[in-house]
Amino acid sequence: MENLDQRVAVIGAGYAGMAAAVTLAQEGVRVTVLEAGPVPGGRARRISSEGRELDNGQHILIGAYGELLRLMRLVAVPAQALLRLPLELRYADGFAFRSLWLPAPLGLLGGLLFASKLTLAERWDAVRFMGFLQKNDFHVEQTLTVLDLLQRHRQNGTIGHYLWRPLCVSALNTPPELASAQVFANVLRDSLAGEREASDLLLPRVDLSRLFPEPACEFVARRGGEIRTGALVRDLAAMRRKFRAVIVAVGPHQLKALLPELAGNYQYQPIYTCYLQYPASVRLPFPMLGLAEGLVQWAFDRGALTGERGRIACVISAQGDHQQLQRDELAAACHRELARALGGLPDPEWSCVIAEKRATVACTREMKSLNLRMKIEGVYLAGDYTDPDYPPTLEAAVRSGVRAAQLALAPPCTAS
Ligand SMILES: Cc1cc2nc3c(=O)[nH]c(=O)nc-3n(C[C@H](O)[C@H](O)[C@H](O)COP(=O)(O)OP(=O)(O)OC[C@H]3O[C@@H](n4cnc5c(N)ncnc54)[C@H](O)[C@@H]3O)c2cc1C
Repeated sequence: MENLDQRVAVIGAGYAGMAAAVTLAQEGVRVTVLEAGPVPGGRARRISSEGRELDNGQHILIGAYGELLRLMRLVAVPAQALLRLPLELRYADGFAFRSLWLPAPLGLLGGLLFASKLTLAERWDAVRFMGFLQKNDFHVEQTLTVLDLLQRHRQNGTIGHYLWRPLCVSALNTPPELASAQVFANVLRDSLAGEREASDLLLPRVDLSRLFPEPACEFVARRGGEIRTGALVRDLAAMRRKFRAVIVAVGPHQLKALLPELAGNYQYQPIYTCYLQYPASVRLPFPMLGLAEGLVQWAFDRGALTGERGRIACVISAQGDHQQLQRDELAAACHRELARALGGLPDPEWSCVIAEKRATVACTREMKSLNLRMKIEGVYLAGDYTDPDYPPTLEAAVRSGVRAAQLALAPPCTAS
């Protein structure tokens, strides 16, 4: 019989757990992954709804997601699984921002200077704002919210409406009045002001479980690992007795069941995705289109991305009035906004609203100052909410998984 003492267990097959499992398997460690749900992916997974396969929510990656992109290559995800576009924010009402194809920071600065709808003074203030951030190495006062930061630098007018606010809500999933200015600055540092390709938009062309978690499971299985879905872990102590080390890669609200002493009192922010199925001929002018005037923030053309022709995914990130609406009312509002933006649309054949009420923890100043210290020997924590630097995203999840695996691989310290 195999000696389980040498195995490492990973609880949770989301992006964090699978990043940990792949890192361990690559080092020759036998891994057992235990996942409560029916498919791997966690908050970024394929779901089945009324006989249709959908993602639980539209996701975007950016070129700065270095760890996720590295692991996707390692587990042999084909490059065509992502549509790579140079950063371009296009709105239905004509606003457009495009980072120019120049080395950083010239691409961004050029983009700001050429953005439409801005006055000359606003362009100049925006360039000075980026200059201020660069000069300070993207360090800002820890106590500031994103709104404070934008107000201080006169960035809350048109440019705030079309560029900074949508970037904050999309990247931090938290409204600017609550979001941490430092985490926002970290995102700008790594994306807009990073390497030329770091700000590229990467839009999935396959479902979110196929994008990384399932190829990662296959990679682990080929190296003698085991993936068990439908396996809810209730007893961490029993796991510790069985395995050499345990990586706990569950969502923050699921931590209470396993590690109540670490489960902080997190605040959460929602993300709603409304799928609208139109006749196959309906297309958006751009695969990702901004709608700046109503509830919908971004609309994605799934026909152009995944071949699901006529299907539009409308995304509403962070808290807002839309949470008061019934699902059919919300779907009707999304259809009206889209029809207005595109100058008319037929009625959708069907619609489906997916409300992820705890999509991520709120990325506030208080949240990022929480110091999660694992005190149980042989137990390591991973998950998007544990990253000290990055907002809760796929990249934060993957980074945390790699880090937890490296800690589990390190030989135990011996007291001198
Ligand atoms: C709708 C939506 C849109 C988003 N959009 C973006 C985006 O555009 N870009 C981006 O970068 N990020 C986005 N995110 C955030 C991103 O999805 C998350 O940051 C990431 O998926 C978190 O991964 P994780 O592995 O840390 O946690 P999770 O994905 O929550 O994984 C935890 C896993 O653990 C399992 N589990 C829990 N308890 C147990 C137990 N006791 N036993 C066994 N298994 C257990 C769960 O079933 C789950 O599969 C979005 C999130 C949502 C919900």
